Amino acid sequence: EAARTGGDGTGPILAADGREVRLLANVGGGADVAAAVAAGARGVGLFRTELLYLGTLRPPTFEEQVAAYREVLDGFPGGLVVARTLDAGADKPLPFLPLGEEPNPALGVRGVRAFRGAYEHLLDTQLAALAAAAVDAPAELWVMAPMVTTAEEAAWFAAKAHAAGIAKAGVMIEVPAAALTAQEVLAEVDFASIGTNDLTQYTMAADRLLGSLGALQDAGHPAVLRLVALVAAAGAVLGKPVGVCGEAAADPRLAAELIRLGVTSLSMAPAAIPELRAALTK
Ligand code: PEP
Ligand code: MG
Repeated sequence: EAARTGGDGTGPILAADGREVRLLANVGGGADVAAAVAAGARGVGLFRTELLYLGTLRPPTFEEQVAAYREVLDGFPGGLVVARTLDAGADKPLPFLPLGEEPNPALGVRGVRAFRGAYEHLLDTQLAALAAAAVDAPAELWVMAPMVTTAEEAAWFAAKAHAAGIAKAGVMIEVPAAALTAQEVLAEVDFASIGTNDLTQYTMAADRLLGSLGALQDAGHPAVLRLVALVAAAGAVLGKPVGVCGEAAADPRLAAELIRLGVTSLSMAPAAIPELRAALTK
C-alpha cells in the first residue's frame, strides 16, 4: 500500500489507487517561504494570514496586505497558494478586532463569524487585497474561510470572494456540523480543507489549549476519521478538492490513512515535509 513518489522529490505523492496527493506547506507569511521551498513544497496549503497581524493595533491597509500576500505568491512560481482569511478569536486574538468577553471563546464569535455584521468591511478589504495580489502573480491563489459551520455561511463567503475577483473560494472544515453536512457545504464552494486541529477539538469536546486533555486531542480517533471520510467522499462525488491542513497531515501513520480516505492534499509545517515524504514513499 506504500505510495510512490513522483518526479524530482517535490512532486505529488501517488496514492495506491493512482490519485495524486500534493504535499504543501503551512505558512504564516513571506518569512516562511524559504523554509517551505527548501523542504520541497511546491505550494502552500494553508497561509494563516492572521499571523501577520497578531501584534497590529490597527487593521492592516489594503496596500500592506497586497504586498504581504504577493510575497508569498512570488515564492511558488507555477504552484498553488491557499490563503485563509483572518481567523480571529479564541486562540488567535487580533488586537484591532475587539470581540468582547465571552464565557467560551472557542465556541464564540470567531473565524468567519467575526466578519459578518460590524466588521464585514475588514473581510471585504482582505478579499480585495488577495484578489489584487493574485493579478499577474506567478502562483495560483485560492482563498478559504475559517470556522465555517453551515452551507449558508459557505454560500455567503463564496459569493463575496467570487465577487471580489477570487477564482476559487473554499472553506475550512473544522466544525463537526460542517463535516456532517459536507455534501451541502461543498456544493456551495470550489474546494475544502479539513483543519484537524479544531475538528478534533470540537469533535472530542477537548480544548486544544489544555495540555491536561492531550490524550483526547487525537485526530486519529475514529470519531474524527469518520468525519474526514464523510468530507473526502463528498469531495469525490462533487469533483472538488478536499485537503487536510491540520497537524494530523504531518503524522506519517495518520497521513497514510488520510490518503486512503481520499483527501487530495496534505499541508503541514515545512520542517515536517521531507520526513513525511520519505515515510510515504519508502
Ligand atoms: C486547524 O484547526 O486544524 C487548522 C489548520 O487551523 P489552525 O490550527 O490555525 O486553527
Ligand atoms: Mg483551525
